[in-house]
Amino acid sequence: MLLNLYQKVTRFIDHDARTARYLFLIVAIGFGLFTFFGDNKPLQGPIEHEWINAFDSIVSFILFLLLLLCNPCKKYFQEFGYLLIYILNIGNVYLLYATGFDIQYSYQFIVVYVISGWFFRSELAFVFFFTSINTALILSLLVASSTTPPTFDFYATYVVAAVAQVVLIRYRFNVEHMLTESEKKYRLLAQNSFDLICVHDADGSLEFVSPSVKRLLGYEPDELIGHKPYEIVHEADKHIIRSLVLTGKNHPSIQHPIQYRLKHKDGSYVWIETIFTPLDSPDGKTNVVLSQTRDIRRSKGYQIQLEERTKELERSNADLETFAFVSSHDMQEPLRMIANYMQLLKRKYAGKLDKEAEEYIDFASNGAITLQQLLRDLLSYSRITRADIKQEKVNVNQLMKEVLRNIQLEIKERNAEITIGELYSVVSDKNLLMLVLQNLTLNGLKYNHSKTPEVEVTCTTMATGFEFCVADNGIGIKPEHQKRIFEPFHRLHTKAEIPGTGLGLSICKKIVERLGGTIRLESEYGVGSKFYFTLPK
Ligand code: ADP
Repeated sequence: MLLNLYQKVTRFIDHDARTARYLFLIVAIGFGLFTFFGDNKPLQGPIEHEWINAFDSIVSFILFLLLLLCNPCKKYFQEFGYLLIYILNIGNVYLLYATGFDIQYSYQFIVVYVISGWFFRSELAFVFFFTSINTALILSLLVASSTTPPTFDFYATYVVAAVAQVVLIRYRFNVEHMLTESEKKYRLLAQNSFDLICVHDADGSLEFVSPSVKRLLGYEPDELIGHKPYEIVHEADKHIIRSLVLTGKNHPSIQHPIQYRLKHKDGSYVWIETIFTPLDSPDGKTNVVLSQTRDIRRSKGYQIQLEERTKELERSNADLETFAFVSSHDMQEPLRMIANYMQLLKRKYAGKLDKEAEEYIDFASNGAITLQQLLRDLLSYSRITRADIKQEKVNVNQLMKEVLRNIQLEIKERNAEITIGELYSVVSDKNLLMLVLQNLTLNGLKYNHSKTPEVEVTCTTMATGFEFCVADNGIGIKPEHQKRIFEPFHRLHTKAEIPGTGLGLSICKKIVERLGGTIRLESEYGVGSKFYFTLPK
């Protein structure tokens, strides 16, 4: 507790120069008062005690001014202050001697003597002070003891003061030693850190810059101290730092990493990432900001490369889609002609050609029909990426009824049973959603060997949206094929077994993703499949 109290007092005096200043001002005023109103006893020496008091008052006042005007941490001011403290105390020793160790002056001496001890920041200076003042005092005691022996009061107060001073100063230096040691550790950390560590004052100027700045930006720390880093921020990134200043130091955004460019000494720019952390001063106000800066040139390079590649990919993807769209669109016309003429040929020469020739015509016209279907699917596949998404309220129950009307032929042919559950209305693109539901329902009938195929369409609501499910009692899909069936042209059957182009599910996937959802599958081979797709709310 004692140590704690002591630390508080020393911190109070050391860190608040004002306190020290006022102590010396009080001492100066005290001596001033002694000068004019003190007890006028005859002195043993050649100097009048008023003069000594006046001298002490002036010295204390100079100490007050020194602390008021100058930074007490500057070495030469500090040493000049030590000198004045010696002089002040020697003056007091002389006064004690001259007044015959009068108890009034001994209190005065002891107050100044103990206060002075607090201002020594170096152990050596304190030891010198202590021995010189006490030697001077002992010598004057020896000289005086024959003529005017000092009183017991004087000895008692003096010894207690000297012991108290030594004990307290020892504590102080121990605490300071501990502080210096821990500060040394942190300084070592900051100085040897690979990252750049800086301390900024209240208006952003740099107070401390770690030596790693040389490696990162080519400057010596001294070249940047006192400057604002804003001066070397890339023009294009200045707004980032400006907005940071505007949002204020207490704004939470300050603790997120910010990426920007700083000018290297050689004129080039370096991509860096900084985290600013406001540090609270002992008075609870934020007046210092710590920044940690990291070189991100390499990762930034990768990021830029990746962005360029992605753009390139997007471009070539768009080119491919345009190509698929244009070619499938343009191929439709000549293909329709081939199919029509094949039909015409078949009709006109029916019975006139031999069997083999008729078979060839059948192959050719079937091929043309398959190709037509493929082109139609390709066209709608490439249209999905280009289509504008309309956002409208869609009554999915109603939409499902339309789907059933569209595929009523297939339903009848297969003697199928379609059950529609309670389907939620959504905000989405009606036509695209219809394509998905129709494709999935048709697949439920198509990939189904049951005598009465069953398809059930249901919907559940989730926190982020809706999940629709199209379930069938069809042939099911083996687990090893389940992932790949959403890829274009990936089919599990030959065209002879079950006709199709292999584009239906990839069209569904593309649509669902464009509508902001996902599609997945659960299936048991030989039992049936459930296709789930989500739509955002
Ligand atoms: P297609 O347009 O040829 O029908 P899809 O992309 O719709 O092609 O389907 C791809 C493959 O996925 C099909 O060949 C089929 O094997 C399988 N498949 C799709 N839906 C079902 C389903 N409901 N039940 C079983 N298999 C299915």
